Amino acid sequence: MQRRKFLQNISLVSAAAVLPDLASAEPGKKKKHFTIAFISDIHIKALDVAEAGMKRALQNINQLTQQPDFIINGGDCVMDALAADKEKTKTQWDLFNKIMGAENKLPVKNCIGNHDIWGWQLKEDVKSDPLYGKAWWLQQTGYARTYYSFTHNNWHFIVLDSVQENNGGYIALLDNEQFSWLENELNSNTEKNISIISHIPIISFCSAMFAKDMMPNGDWKLSRALLHTDAKKIKDLFKKHPNIKSCLSGHIHLQDEVNYLGIKYYCNGAISGNWWGGPFQDFAPAYALFDFYNDGSVERKMIEY
Ligand SMILES: [Zn+2]
Repeated sequence: MQRRKFLQNISLVSAAAVLPDLASAEPGKKKKHFTIAFISDIHIKALDVAEAGMKRALQNINQLTQQPDFIINGGDCVMDALAADKEKTKTQWDLFNKIMGAENKLPVKNCIGNHDIWGWQLKEDVKSDPLYGKAWWLQQTGYARTYYSFTHNNWHFIVLDSVQENNGGYIALLDNEQFSWLENELNSNTEKNISIISHIPIISFCSAMFAKDMMPNGDWKLSRALLHTDAKKIKDLFKKHPNIKSCLSGHIHLQDEVNYLGIKYYCNGAISGNWWGGPFQDFAPAYALFDFYNDGSVERKMIEY
């Protein structure tokens, strides 16, 4: 064999040896790790349409061919505990627990919502009641604190508490203690992909679309209760951690998907839609299914149940 021909053969052989690897490396590059269901803003109350709707949403999840590994409940389980008396709050939680107990088959991770907090807007003074404020939700969920984290398949989930008391209402932000905890969580989990859960969106366009009207001078109307007021501070922290891949929220009852500085922010509609009166603006009652991939990407599918 001539030297030239020999070299050609060698290169053909090595190309053939390399090609199958390349071919198998391509599809192997992005691999689905697991799926979760994100349900939010159920706002259960003693009303046929609400009870039937919550059941139907959970039954819809049970019927999925590929079962999610777990459910994240994005908060606002009950219609409202902020301004409800003790008896009415208990009735709502009992109903929530009854339907979850009967219909849900999956593990649930809970995120606190504003309407899950008892008594902040109640005229009667219940501050000395051991269930006042966030204590009722803590008793419900069995958690020691309103924010926490957990790891699932090399993904670290950080669940935040967006809701802080503010002049008889609430404001969306992380208090200093929680912010320091978050910094520490991010510093201690640099090897894992990170997904952040908050009831109120940190970054979202939905929050601006919520109000029907603009301000008289044409400015957008954007309540401190609809978007994290410390979004810029959180964004600066997130910039130091490129392993943060996604942030999932509820609260607005609308849906969007915002890609900002390499992080996907998803606002995930509501199980209750327009608080059980059908669709809210352009969005029917729905929950989200999230696929988490080994390359750090996340894909969402909204399910109108
Ligand atoms: Zn809410």
